[in-house]
Amino acid sequence: MDGLPVGPTPSPPVIKAGWLDKNPPQGSYIYQKRWVRLDTDHLRYFDSNKDAYSKRFVPVSCISRVAAIGDQKFEVITNNRTFAFRAESDAERKEWMQALQQAVAEQRARARLSSAHPLGVQGSEPPDRAGSLELRGFKNKLYVAVVGDKVQLYKNLEEYHLGIGITFIDMSVGNVKEAADRRGFDLTTPYRIFSFLAESELEKEQWLEAMQRAIAEALSTWEVAERIWAMAPNRFCADCGAAQPDWASINLCVVICKRCAGEHRGLGAGISKVRSLKMDRKVWTETLIELFLQLGNAAGNRFWAANVPPSEALQPSSSPGARRCHLEAKYREGKYRRYHPLFGNQEELDKALCAAVTTSDLAETQALLGCGAGVNCFSGDPEVPTPLALAEQAGQTLQMEFLRNNRTTEVPRLDSVRPPEKHYSVVLPTVSHSGFLYKTASAGKLLQDRRAREEFSRRWCVLSDGVLSYYENERAVTPNGEIRASEIVCLAVPTPNTHGFEHTFEVYTEGERLYLFGLESAELAREWVKCIAKAFVPPPAEDLLARDFERLGRLPYKAGLSLQRAQEGWFALLGSELHAVFPEGPCEEPLQLRKLQELSVQGDSENQVLVLVERRRTLYIQGERRLDFTGWLGAIQKAAASSGDTLSEQQLGDSDIPVIVYRCVDYITQCGLTSEGIYRKCGQTSKTQRLLESLRLDARSVRLKEGEQHVDDVSSALKRFLRDLPDGLFTRVQRLAWLEASEIEDEEEKVSRYRELLVRLPPVNRATVKALISHLYCVQCFSDTNQMNTHNLAIVFGPTLFQTDGQDYKAGRVVEDLISHYVMVFSVDEEELRKQREEITAIVKMRVAGTASGTQHAGDFICTVYLEEKKAETEQHVKIPASMTAEELTLEILDRRNVGIREKDYWTCFEVNEREEAERPLHFAEKVLPILHGLGMDSYLVVKKHQSMEAMLLYLASHVGETKHGMMKFREDRSLLGLGLPSGGFHDRYFILNSSCLRLYKEVRSQRPWSGAPETSHRPEKEWPVRSLKIYLGVKKKLRPPTCWGFTVVHETEKHEKQQWYLCCETQMELREWFATFLFMQHDGLVWPSEPSRVSRAVPEVRLGSVSLIPLRGSENEMRRSVAAFTADPLSLLRNV
Ligand SMILES: [Zn+2]
Repeated sequence: MDGLPVGPTPSPPVIKAGWLDKNPPQGSYIYQKRWVRLDTDHLRYFDSNKDAYSKRFVPVSCISRVAAIGDQKFEVITNNRTFAFRAESDAERKEWMQALQQAVAEQRARARLSSAHPLGVQGSEPPDRAGSLELRGFKNKLYVAVVGDKVQLYKNLEEYHLGIGITFIDMSVGNVKEAADRRGFDLTTPYRIFSFLAESELEKEQWLEAMQRAIAEALSTWEVAERIWAMAPNRFCADCGAAQPDWASINLCVVICKRCAGEHRGLGAGISKVRSLKMDRKVWTETLIELFLQLGNAAGNRFWAANVPPSEALQPSSSPGARRCHLEAKYREGKYRRYHPLFGNQEELDKALCAAVTTSDLAETQALLGCGAGVNCFSGDPEVPTPLALAEQAGQTLQMEFLRNNRTTEVPRLDSVRPPEKHYSVVLPTVSHSGFLYKTASAGKLLQDRRAREEFSRRWCVLSDGVLSYYENERAVTPNGEIRASEIVCLAVPTPNTHGFEHTFEVYTEGERLYLFGLESAELAREWVKCIAKAFVPPPAEDLLARDFERLGRLPYKAGLSLQRAQEGWFALLGSELHAVFPEGPCEEPLQLRKLQELSVQGDSENQVLVLVERRRTLYIQGERRLDFTGWLGAIQKAAASSGDTLSEQQLGDSDIPVIVYRCVDYITQCGLTSEGIYRKCGQTSKTQRLLESLRLDARSVRLKEGEQHVDDVSSALKRFLRDLPDGLFTRVQRLAWLEASEIEDEEEKVSRYRELLVRLPPVNRATVKALISHLYCVQCFSDTNQMNTHNLAIVFGPTLFQTDGQDYKAGRVVEDLISHYVMVFSVDEEELRKQREEITAIVKMRVAGTASGTQHAGDFICTVYLEEKKAETEQHVKIPASMTAEELTLEILDRRNVGIREKDYWTCFEVNEREEAERPLHFAEKVLPILHGLGMDSYLVVKKHQSMEAMLLYLASHVGETKHGMMKFREDRSLLGLGLPSGGFHDRYFILNSSCLRLYKEVRSQRPWSGAPETSHRPEKEWPVRSLKIYLGVKKKLRPPTCWGFTVVHETEKHEKQQWYLCCETQMELREWFATFLFMQHDGLVWPSEPSRVSRAVPEVRLGSVSLIPLRGSENEMRRSVAAFTADPLSLLRNV
């Protein structure tokens, strides 16, 4: 190991030790006998040669001179103190003086060599914690500093500044534990127990924490460092050259010193992921260590530091500012890097990367990534689509490790004007502010409990030059600590009285620390929050500061077109709105969290992603930093939940109906319409209560399932919710007007009065009244079975909705009127009514058929639909209302994925049957729900482009006549519920397809030359009604179809018997013609919706405030690439190109 130090900082060698007389303290004449020991770093004296802890230590670096005085005495002179000793003899004095002088000279030489802080009193390391503590056995409080792996004791602050102390305790032998006393704690060592008393319980905890860190530091393993230092270049900081660097950037793959590590952290995790060689033991897998041995500082600097002008090079002693500048230029801008010959040619770079990762040439991979090759670029092979997959296939584990660590690394950009999305490079506004704040110790996790007032300490805080420093008091010179504005990632304002101080705010840093500050005055707290926010938010995002936010910060996100690589965006949470500012693009509409369709956390605990789906846009927020992400997660979830009891404070679904109402109504519609006494019967109180509680908490996540909830419990929960609304459904102000309206005798006049009143209701109330009455209208349609006619429903709902005791008959009458005149009062048009009827019919049918309860979708009708192909990443979960058509489903899926629709895209929903190896494009007007319930285990729905639609439409447009006939290969497969055995092979048959039937003839009898139509035998061999056929494209290979242009025809008889045939055409064109004719016959000639309706639906509806996060734009290819990037489906890149 070339004489490298091994293990914890070893004790420096003792140069000289012996008994000396120490000059008496002032006021005394008696010399004291002391055991004095000199090592390379310190001169110390002890009571006896058996003591482990000194009475005094003087750093050799503080000694300015050693001088002889009379009587075998000599003086050790420091800047401020002089220590006099008396030796036994002149010879001994000479020895001591020589030893001391030599130690001082060597110390200076060493300091010059490293030129690091030649006379730095505290050495290079700032204390982890310093402050006053009582120590049992001492009259006065001591000043204690925890530095690295040592605890140092000083008489007072002044001596601490001088560097001359009492003793220091090596924490490799230390242990700390709380004492019985509230404020007391013991630092125990094998030689002595130090009993401390802190100023408060909180301070005690902070001391314990700091000392435990020192123990961890002392015990930290050097094993990793030793192994990594085995390569000589890794023994010096890659950036400044300091010796024994014990930190590393695991994505850049360089070993760095502690000071450079601090600056690396400031660059952000997108540039450098900093880890300790000593403390982050978990990180250091064998593979990572091996990677550092192969790449490490040698390769790293060959690439990153190929062209460093001497004037810009760093020294171990360089100032923090110079260090920052250099590291910005080196890694963010890539200013000194060795340019790859392919630089600038993205396609070639990507290609070269795909090639390099399959070899052991790690340096090439490093150079390519550092010059802009896409770490997630597409390889051209869908089987192994990414460089990572290629490396895996080639068994290159080191390449894999390197790629993984660089998954989110930003490509360096040598832009003279730094791009605005790089928050940290933007010149932050200079904000100055100062005053007293109350502060608690920083924490590494979220604050779960209330922090009592005593836990805050008063600190003088100064915000200036982008640094927030806090001091013991306003006269203190050295801050107790500081937070750099550029390191702040989040600022949160808890609700008043969350902690012992009424007003508090939390500051989260890049280094995953959380600082809590408190104040009495709301005004002062607000002022601080604004100032700190201004100090860390760059100008492009300062709009977010316009209003009082609850949380503000930066987070990596993906959205819109830029799904390939996460970017950093600025977010502010205000009530239930999430405002966002993204590096590019105009100001965004805020996300309405209470109206989200989906809010979920995906990924494993290491890589969490928060998915927010609003109509027409999806946002992915990545949990790169754990602490502030967890904070955001909780806050967003809370903001997305109902904020109170009034209607508009609830989670809202589409069309402004509270999700809670929607959930209940939907469930009753699906499961309770035929239940006797529905809404009249009461559910079980406890169950109703529990259900209502969970609905109030987060209705969106509640899935009511048949068999789990009784309809009466659900109906009671809904009634209770409506009855308990603080303002009532009809509002307190307007309630009376509604009741009075019910007394109008003229029916027509009464209805128009209701309509008038309806308009005056707040939008959410209006929508809810309509949804509810529409639902009750359905309920009374089933009064034959459920016994709940309009009058009965009115008796139940009158008092509920008007919150009366049931004495006022007028309340019931209003409800009765509204149900009876439902169509008129709510201007329900024919189409809407028809849809509603269809929905009910579908539900009843399904319940009769009993299929609904048999599938996993029972009760909630949530269906999985894929985009482009069946893969986990393309999965979408869609709630399917009974009225939803295939076209609506298709648009919904495309909306969610932000896929724009071009004129000839023909996006279609397909029902895919994997077992039959066949698929059926659903007709745009087909209802999805019945199909869903008929889907077997081998089938699924996928939305993709219908590739032959264009050809089919052209054929239909040019084709005159209503029939098609011709030869096809035919094979029968008569099976009962799909269990029968196939029989025979494919045979030629003649088919005639017209608007009513598909007929099969065994042979063509003769051909009439003048008509072109063949003469067939009079009786067809088989005949099927065309509308009851389902035509699937494809024939399973097992049947050995004679051509690849086949389709599978399914016919379900009235007895639910399934019959299946296979037909094969000679050419693709023929297949398309047959298929087009089938569609044409089955759907009265309307095969594709008229263009305008689709185009208009595809355009984001601005008036609804639902514009996409990043407006859809760019060429078709870009769009496709974006979809491909998302679905990671390389094929879609190639399709249609
Ligand atoms: Zn360094």
